[in-house]
Amino acid sequence: MHRLTLGNFELIAVSDGLYRLDGGVLFGVIPKVMWSKRMPADENNYIPVGLNSILVRTGDHTVLIETGIGNKLPEKLAKIYGQPAKLLDNLSAAGIAPEDIDIVINTHLHFDHCGWNTVLRAGQPAATFPKAKYYVQEGEWQYAQHPSERDGISYMTANYDPLVASGQMQLLRGDQEIVPGVSVKVFPGHTQYMQAVLVHSGGKTACYISDLIPTSAHLDLNWITGFDLFPLQTLESRKRFYAEAIPQKWLTIFTHDPNMPWSYVEKDEKGKLLANASAKAA
Ligand SMILES: [Zn+2]
Repeated sequence: MHRLTLGNFELIAVSDGLYRLDGGVLFGVIPKVMWSKRMPADENNYIPVGLNSILVRTGDHTVLIETGIGNKLPEKLAKIYGQPAKLLDNLSAAGIAPEDIDIVINTHLHFDHCGWNTVLRAGQPAATFPKAKYYVQEGEWQYAQHPSERDGISYMTANYDPLVASGQMQLLRGDQEIVPGVSVKVFPGHTQYMQAVLVHSGGKTACYISDLIPTSAHLDLNWITGFDLFPLQTLESRKRFYAEAIPQKWLTIFTHDPNMPWSYVEKDEKGKLLANASAKAA
């Protein structure tokens, strides 16, 4: 388990396990001869990818960023992607019970980011984290009501609609502080309203950048996944992110990296972007 101290906060990377994605979709227009050197695929072109959630203990709040795939995937999707369903076990191993979490933040509502928001109780979806307030952008939730034929498969209403109906999920309009030291910032591209989560304490910053940069193999500006609805906006959002994250030495958290949940992003003399897991924050 990866843990670190960020100022006065503790960050714990808790995984929902590994699932798999088609390498071509994961790297979009980048040729396989290039991406397969960074992330080798199996004989069916699948790449194992991570489902990294982050637990933030601020002292006053216990915040869970992202909730993985969960355990409610329809059989057909479970066959395609896998359904490891390890998040609650890994939280428990870290000494965290579902009742301990008082804030849950979803960066967007694709099924591999909000699956453990709910579990089935007597056949009905109910909050996995009964005492938590959940947060997502209103625009993302509105879009999830009517996704396109291209991405409809990514949305499962049982992960969020019951929470919105009960008032347990709050819909945000733009950048906002959630609790002291934890805020969200919208970075369009993957979806129109995907939000990153910024964690600030003691002059240090970590950023859960979600699917804007899903793994440490996606740092280059043009290595954009085929899932992204607005790839040119992804490009601009990445420039906006690096303009702050590199000089200010933000710890960058990768939602789907199978090996490295977080690292610092650096630029070498040639301008090449590199992930440096061992660097120290400023
Ligand atoms: Zn996504």
